[in-house]
Amino acid sequence: MTATTAGPAGRPHLDAVDESADRTDWVAGIPFLLVHLAPLAAFFVVVTWQDWLLCFLLYVIRMFFITAGYHRYFSHRSYRMGRVAQFIAAFGGTTAVQKGPLWWAGHHRLHHRYTDMDDDVHSPRDGIWWSHVGWILSTKYKQTDLSTIKDFAAYPELRFLERHSWIGPWLLGVACFLIGGWGGLLIGFFLSTVLLWHGTFLVNSMAHLIGRRRYATPDTSRNSMIVALITGGEGWHNNHHYLPASARQGFTWWELDPTWYVLKALAAVRLVRDLKDPPARLLDQARVREGAFDIGMFRSYWERAAKVTGERIADLSARPIGTSAEVTPPGRPTAAEDQGAEGPAAEPLSHLSGLISGVLESADHLAAATRRTRKGAKAAAESGTGDNTSE
Ligand SMILES: [Zn+2]
Ligand SMILES: [Zn+2]
Repeated sequence: MTATTAGPAGRPHLDAVDESADRTDWVAGIPFLLVHLAPLAAFFVVVTWQDWLLCFLLYVIRMFFITAGYHRYFSHRSYRMGRVAQFIAAFGGTTAVQKGPLWWAGHHRLHHRYTDMDDDVHSPRDGIWWSHVGWILSTKYKQTDLSTIKDFAAYPELRFLERHSWIGPWLLGVACFLIGGWGGLLIGFFLSTVLLWHGTFLVNSMAHLIGRRRYATPDTSRNSMIVALITGGEGWHNNHHYLPASARQGFTWWELDPTWYVLKALAAVRLVRDLKDPPARLLDQARVREGAFDIGMFRSYWERAAKVTGERIADLSARPIGTSAEVTPPGRPTAAEDQGAEGPAAEPLSHLSGLISGVLESADHLAAATRRTRKGAKAAAESGTGDNTSE
């Protein structure tokens, strides 16, 4: 399969989608670009401190709708709320201009199911640009696959918001204009929207590239204070990939998690309920010792190495047949020469490739075993016969 996208060239995908779909949608990219440019127009209008305050508030509030709503509720069901509150959470999420809740949460579930594997929607293995923004601009992930989010797709009001996810942003934009005029619109709405986008996207790119790892998850997720500060607590991404169903992502007192503090407050006044805490017995399991080797840290490099050595072996195996046919004098046996050329060079590479694949395979087994441990004895008994590596 040959993908021709500007971002992840040659990105393999196993699902049967239209190959032409995996490329950048430049037409849809135009509004995306224009929103980025809009705040620059603020140089030509009067901007007051109230506009900057509006920008700050809209960033913080909408970030909360994304982290607590789209992410911890719709994607992971890490707590409960009533149907009206659920609708408000979904509507608030749409004002962040990150499409509808079903699209957002459905794709995020795929990210967790296939983290850093071929079917991950935004693994940084496919490039930082791809994980940050390329996947959103690609035609491949434009549609909402309701099969990934059947539970919430059952609500007609959420399907309505999904179809009309433009209503929230437009209402908010008009409100900002009425409140603060051009300054309110350009700084209050557009600038905070751009900052909000890139703040959210950092979790997909930087939180898989920079930071420490506490748990030996079979992916590249990291814990980053910087990303946590920017996103209201979503930077503890290695914690989150280890225990995705937990409403709390900062596991220690110093791992700041404002989203969780607000959720606790909302639970105290009964607006939400049943916040799932990380089970105490799991917090010390699967830990990476300080400075110890951890497969998730190096996985992307190793896989690239395995791919490169694999290609090199294929290259060496193919070459003697092609080249020797041209340069071999008539009558000389080519088979012996082929063997001579291929043998010593290809052998060590083949061993290396085998070694790398072997290590990755055992890491996968280890990861599967860890996941089974986490799920507890009951789940382990159920999944004893299956490979159960995808969830
Ligand atoms: Zn992730
Ligand atoms: Zn998640």
